[in-house]
Amino acid sequence: MISFNVPPMVGTELDYITQAVHNHKISGDGEFTKKASQWLKEKTKTEKVLLTTSCTHALEMAALLCHIQPGDEVIMPSFTFVSTADAFALRGAKIVFVDIRPDTMNIDENLIEAAVTERTKVIVPVHYAGVSCEMDTIMKIASKYHLKVVEDAAQGMMSSYKGKALGTIGDYGCYSFHETKNYSMGEGGALLLSKPEDIEEAEIIREKGTNRSKFFRGQVDKYTWVAAGSSYLPSEINVAYLWAQLLEAEKINENRMQSWNRYYQSLLPLSQAGLIELPVVPKDCIHNAHMFYLKAKDLEERDALIRYLKENGIIAVFHYIPLHTSSAGKQYGRFYGEDVYTTKESERLLRLPMYYGLKEEDQNKVVNTIKKFYHF
Ligand SMILES: *Cc1c(COP(=O)(O)O)cnc(C)c1O
Repeated sequence: MISFNVPPMVGTELDYITQAVHNHKISGDGEFTKKASQWLKEKTKTEKVLLTTSCTHALEMAALLCHIQPGDEVIMPSFTFVSTADAFALRGAKIVFVDIRPDTMNIDENLIEAAVTERTKVIVPVHYAGVSCEMDTIMKIASKYHLKVVEDAAQGMMSSYKGKALGTIGDYGCYSFHETKNYSMGEGGALLLSKPEDIEEAEIIREKGTNRSKFFRGQVDKYTWVAAGSSYLPSEINVAYLWAQLLEAEKINENRMQSWNRYYQSLLPLSQAGLIELPVVPKDCIHNAHMFYLKAKDLEERDALIRYLKENGIIAVFHYIPLHTSSAGKQYGRFYGEDVYTTKESERLLRLPMYYGLKEEDQNKVVNTIKKFYHF
């Protein structure tokens, strides 16, 4: 049986977890959190990185920092994970879904401007598969209409656009360290801040509405309740797991890229024969091999291929059910313009097994099974 995902593990995780336990510091913001945030800040060259309990929570923090009020509109693709919309729906926003580009499955930057109204507050580009959205265009629209940009870079750690790390281009960037992502701590995430003036407010929101972060730095002599907030800081035990992987980040990335390229090269002939379509990575983007997907002819063929792979011991999956077609999506959002690609392309998409340490022989089996399915 070839799994779809295996959580990343480099081998030193338990050592660091043991260390966290022996430090008698298992709540948040200890040594591991300091080291991991600093590592991420240097790696991404941004102003500030705050570790969170999930990417969903990083998105929630971003929605709070954008001061979303009921009735505000937030533009995003419908082809995304529920959390992208949830974070803003929780604040009473109306979600305005815009169609995607069929090549990258990212929001179509050329359709965003027409969807802007006087109620629009935020654009949320989702960097699908760790391949960047067309950020120059998106940032131009945001600047023209004074909108905030929250990058859902859940899948985008180690990816870049024109040399800039994903998550550092807009006002706020959100990473995920869920077990299905390239780097993990079980459940976890990070909020990246590109503007120093947001740091204090973000720290307060993350620490139950208190100025505790300032207190720890010795900037105030007692800490107190200063605003409405929540608790978004992860336990040191979880961050210790992540720390092991950050130290091996390049190795993990190279390993995934190798698997990705192997899939691409060996499936290229099927694509050239017009049987399937392969992912597209625009020239300004460096990706992180977060996922490998292919597109079948249509929904029926896609589902038949998933079944055939399963019969042969290979787990392949699809996602997402477009949010605008879901019951909550209808309640909280509307689709702007015409759904030309969102539904059609999502129905053709199929994700192949992809994880750190995926064996070459397993990959060969996946490829050969796909070839057999297509009588190729
Ligand atoms: C995984 C993912 C999330 C949610 O991440 P969590 O850390 O599980 O909350 C949000 N958006 C996208 C695009 C994702 O892939």
